Amino acid sequence: MKLSAKWKLKLRALARQYCCTFAALFWLLSITYCGTETPMPPVTLAPGDTATLAPATRADAHAEATPAAVTTLIVPTPFITAPAAAQAAIIPILMYHHLNELPASATELDLTWTVAPENFELQLQWLAERGYHSITMAQVAAHLKEKKPLPRKPIVISFDDGWAEGYSVAFPLLRRYNFLGVYYVYTNPLGKSQFLSRPQLKEMAGAGMDIEAHTLTHPHLRTLAGDAAFKEIAESKTNLEKEIGKPVTSFAYPFGEHNGAITKLVKRAGFSSAVTIAPGYRQRADELYTLHRIRVSYRDTLSEFAARLPN
Ligand SMILES: [Zn+2]
Repeated sequence: MKLSAKWKLKLRALARQYCCTFAALFWLLSITYCGTETPMPPVTLAPGDTATLAPATRADAHAEATPAAVTTLIVPTPFITAPAAAQAAIIPILMYHHLNELPASATELDLTWTVAPENFELQLQWLAERGYHSITMAQVAAHLKEKKPLPRKPIVISFDDGWAEGYSVAFPLLRRYNFLGVYYVYTNPLGKSQFLSRPQLKEMAGAGMDIEAHTLTHPHLRTLAGDAAFKEIAESKTNLEKEIGKPVTSFAYPFGEHNGAITKLVKRAGFSSAVTIAPGYRQRADELYTLHRIRVSYRDTLSEFAARLPN
């Protein structure tokens, strides 16, 4: 049978139409069964890298770390994405002062601001076993301010004032459990009896400890005139930076005392964060200069210590 030119054209158009329909059907089937995401190539990280991997959900946030199966995860996974503006990040900042054995005659004040070395080690062991990763205050600020990711189960282990035990007790124990400490040091007594020496400070900074500022003389800042308060705040930063050769970016208010005027001075001095002694572990971007801390005291049992941390 001979087809007219008109019919030939019609048949060709029909064939094209069915061809497109089959192609469309095939595409639909393929994305239904295979998913629509393009598989990601494996990522290889070197130790110390902080490249962002796929962010995990909040449900994973405090799950135990699983060992790396392939070459992709040889460093702690930076995974906690920064919270939305109104939400808080879960970053416990522990606060220690003295690390000593106390006699039975110890006062309430001594008991409040001291932890026995043996208990301190048990606390570090507990944190290590549960997969906590110690971080610096610069990391806290970068997370809250610039949405930089943090390692799994972040924690800050801070020590106030610059007592000698920070070197003799805390430093070796921190290293044993692969943690870093944040030392808020006031600088005038450095090298004096019961305080850290300048070489010790330098050695700890060189070993990865985070050395931060706590004024020159530990005054009640609210009682000082603006200029005097600014000198205490700003010069402690420059003194320490000269001493350790690294930036000092965080400040601890002596006695936890702060107000709007003092916070302004801390910002003017160039600090990117400041810590108080107000309890809690929820940290917000709009509270970068009034961050919360968790005080650890002499009478705290391990379960009381654990109860103050996020589940
Ligand atoms: Zn202090």
